[in-house]
Amino acid sequence: MKYDVVVIGAGITGLSSAYHLKKKDSSLKILVVDKFKTFSQGNTAKSAAAFRDFFTLRENQVMAQTAINFYKHLQNDMDVDLGMKFTGYLFLFDHEKARDFISKYPHSRFVDEDLSEIFNLNIDKDTREVMGIDSIKSAVIDENAGIIEPDLLSKWYYDRLLEMGVNFMFNTFVKKLVLAPDTSLNYPGEPFNWQKSEIKYAETDKGILESDFYVLCTDVWTTALLNPVGIDSHLRPKKRQIFQITSPGIQKLIGKNIFNDSGVFPFTIFPTGVYMRPYPQANSFWTSLADELNRDFSFTENPEPEPDFYTYNIKPILDNYFPASEDSRITASWAGYYSYNTIDFMPYIFNEINLIVVSGSTGGGIMKGDSIGRIVAARYDHKNTTTLYGGKKINNTYTGRYRSTKIEDMVL
Ligand SMILES: Cc1cc2nc3c(=O)[nH]c(=O)nc-3n(C[C@H](O)[C@H](O)[C@H](O)COP(=O)(O)OP(=O)(O)OC[C@H]3O[C@@H](n4cnc5c(N)ncnc54)[C@H](O)[C@@H]3O)c2cc1C
Repeated sequence: MKYDVVVIGAGITGLSSAYHLKKKDSSLKILVVDKFKTFSQGNTAKSAAAFRDFFTLRENQVMAQTAINFYKHLQNDMDVDLGMKFTGYLFLFDHEKARDFISKYPHSRFVDEDLSEIFNLNIDKDTREVMGIDSIKSAVIDENAGIIEPDLLSKWYYDRLLEMGVNFMFNTFVKKLVLAPDTSLNYPGEPFNWQKSEIKYAETDKGILESDFYVLCTDVWTTALLNPVGIDSHLRPKKRQIFQITSPGIQKLIGKNIFNDSGVFPFTIFPTGVYMRPYPQANSFWTSLADELNRDFSFTENPEPEPDFYTYNIKPILDNYFPASEDSRITASWAGYYSYNTIDFMPYIFNEINLIVVSGSTGGGIMKGDSIGRIVAARYDHKNTTTLYGGKKINNTYTGRYRSTKIEDMVL
């Protein structure tokens, strides 16, 4: 069977892309293919699954904000349980400038409440000198933020796609994209540079998939598919790890309304970037750190969490700032990758021949997932702008391949 569109990758961005493509044009024959045995088993499953609209770039803010509004609409108006809880994001600072900080962000407020019952505000002199960390001096909470369950969100898209007649092929590994000329001369070595060429088919371990158009939602695996055809994926993988911890203190605090009325402790970010994502189902926090320097860009198929990373990089911060973590133990841990756009940290969604490539979600593919799907559908229709949920518009150039108004055209 020949398809109109083959979406490679059934994570959140592939599901959302297929959904918005099909919703715009119900006549499209769409296939979603994935190497895993079901949907959303890649980085979508490994994510901290938190959301916020707290971004410095307007486009990132709008993508996240409108996707959050869409998810909220599903949960509140359509009765779809997405496990969405508006816990807020609590940013703790070791300086007083938080008031300047919030003026730029919607939905955020300066925290005037007393923090001393929960956090250690006074780091002793020796620790300050040895670790170079300082006492918490101010805090901000982003209230349009919280946690969501990506399996429930993914299932909602998956069920809609089945209803709409979209086909799925799981356990199917796409080995390569095969470039071929529009008009073949059947001459060895084709395609030649003077021939107009495009992706003719995808070669998989189950045979060949033919389609007029392909959407690559393959996250950190995108480079492996694009390198052989000479297209830059614009992403670099960065390993990210999560450690689930619990302690008697955490069990007492996790279900409390603290700076929110969600019944769940806020997602909290400490000075230095260590964060705690509440996981109330197991009376635990998921704790992590998006380390940059000294974290290489290497990639392995099944990354393992590093207990030493927790012991030496995360735990000392929790020990100092968060007394409730005393006697905590790790009850689970895992590792995945951010598909990192190292230029401006916004997703890349761009057209190239008969392909749309989605990459560089940079740790935000779930919170922006619905918007990414809408941008893919608009790009498929050759639109320069995308109307996001609620009517806000985004210029597709900002997530496209050439974002700068100035690029060198004379590359020969
Ligand atoms: C530790 C961690 C914490 C994170 N925290 C957050 C967070 O709090 N909030 C947030 O919004 N985001 C977060 N993210 C990022 C988020 O998980 C990603 O941005 C998002 O899941 C990307 O979705 P995706 O569909 O593009 O990728 P994936 O879910 O990885 O899906 C890609 C799919 O492509 C398939 N695939 C790839 N290559 C092939 C091939 N050759 N053949 C067949 N199938 C193929 C894979 O099997 C996979 O299912 C986090 C990520 C990590 C690792």
